[in-house]
Amino acid sequence: MSQGNLDQKVVWITGASSGIGEALAQVFANLGAKVVLSARRGEELERVRQQLNHPENHLCVAFDVTQADQAQQAVEQVIEKCQRIDYLINNAGLSQRALIADTTIDTERRIMEIDYFAQISMTKCVLPYLENQGSGHVIFISSVAGLLGTQYRASYSAAKGAIHMWANSLRAEYAEKGLNVSVVFPGFVKTNVSFNALNGAGQAQAHQDEAIENGLKADDFAQKVVKAVMNDQEYIVIGGLKEKLGVAISRISPKLMYKMIRKSKVK
Ligand code: NDP
Repeated sequence: MSQGNLDQKVVWITGASSGIGEALAQVFANLGAKVVLSARRGEELERVRQQLNHPENHLCVAFDVTQADQAQQAVEQVIEKCQRIDYLINNAGLSQRALIADTTIDTERRIMEIDYFAQISMTKCVLPYLENQGSGHVIFISSVAGLLGTQYRASYSAAKGAIHMWANSLRAEYAEKGLNVSVVFPGFVKTNVSFNALNGAGQAQAHQDEAIENGLKADDFAQKVVKAVMNDQEYIVIGGLKEKLGVAISRISPKLMYKMIRKSKVK
């Protein structure tokens, strides 16, 4: 990708203090975008901002995406400082590593809250501004788990599947209003996702999984995402061979995929 393609376009990334969000921020900044970095940990956002091309171009807005009032204030702050939002990347998320039998209903709800309700709440706060602009691109970071449904990730798979369908409805409703909608389905990407993933009692798993350790590098993954998004692709599956094969087989023979998934190593 050539430098400067996104010349001062405003790209707002949630979950930008780590992993995929941090890597996306770097790629967008290298392309000349003005990046707005959001997550709860302000000091980590500042660390990421300082490492971007032209740190002075970019903005940190720390808040908790699950708190609707904080999200609304953050949107107003971004509009005041940047006047517009060209891309919103709903990336902040939290995974799960627990069997259904071991997962409390509170943990199920927490995962749904961040991976589904927070994403739609953010998008609904931003939509009036995008509609007013007559253009905009909303990107949701779902998961291959949301296409397949795997063991140890029941509520996570459900939330990631739900955001896919919500995004499809959004696209249909706003197609005539200049809005692009993309959904990204990552396979395994090497980040802190498994350290932060909740066990059944709602505590962080606090250790790395083999599957994530051997996943794609976040930087390589981010390059592919940005290329696909800039080509206005709507359905974007990026992962290793095993995950891509799983998605392909699920379309041809769901029954075969259900059998395969039981035997696959997902943690
Ligand atoms: P990380 O755990 O490294 O990053 C998660 C990010 O989300 C952090 O920046 C964290 O920042 C932010 N976040 C978490 N909770 C909140 C909150 N309540 N409010 C605001 N920000 C929050 O994981 P990844 O980078 O891997 O995850 C990014 C996205 O990619 C997630 O949606 C994840 O589900 C998805 N994904 C990842 C895969 C992988 O293999 N890595 C595979 C499939 C999907 P902070 O703690 O500072 O708030």
